[in-house]
Amino acid sequence: MHFVSDLGQSHASRGEGLVMVGDLSQPRGGLMSNSRRIHQNGLDADIWFQFAVSAAAIRDTENQPDPPSMLAANGEELGPLWGDDQKALLKAAADDPRVDRIFVNPAIKRGLCSSEPDPAWLRKLRPWFGHDAPFHVRLRCPHDSTACEQQASIPAGDGCAELDWWFSVEARTPAKRSAPRAEPVMPAACRPLLLIN
Ligand SMILES: [Zn+2]
Repeated sequence: MHFVSDLGQSHASRGEGLVMVGDLSQPRGGLMSNSRRIHQNGLDADIWFQFAVSAAAIRDTENQPDPPSMLAANGEELGPLWGDDQKALLKAAADDPRVDRIFVNPAIKRGLCSSEPDPAWLRKLRPWFGHDAPFHVRLRCPHDSTACEQQASIPAGDGCAELDWWFSVEARTPAKRSAPRAEPVMPAACRPLLLIN
């Protein structure tokens, strides 16, 4: 996935650490942008908000718990681990024309909606369950692919005014939840996250 290595390089030009990419064909990823071990998994990738300090650290953490959530303990606001580096990584992904949309926890989007002076770039951020430690990138279909079906386009606007449902009792109670309209098809590795939130 050229997008992933480009994202890693753009991060390297801004700051410290390595971008970690989840391998959606495995229960846990832990791969990084400058590694040849990046797994190609169609058009989807989970990218961790937390950076790895080194390649060795990534190898060491393969049997460790997943990187931490970016949310506060109440699950409704950005937490202490969220910072400018996380926002810059997310924005670099959203600004990439190869990226069709990004699924991210609604609390992350809401936090950005309230802090960004120009929220136009938030349009590609689509609220979804889980995804408070990684964000989920879905690429556009490659131009040369005839088998790939492009998804319906994202509604106009930054989507900031449509976040309320995600903080309702219905959304937060799996038993009461009817799936939100236009439910995306998510890779199997993401599905356990649906049960957490
Ligand atoms: Zn995901």
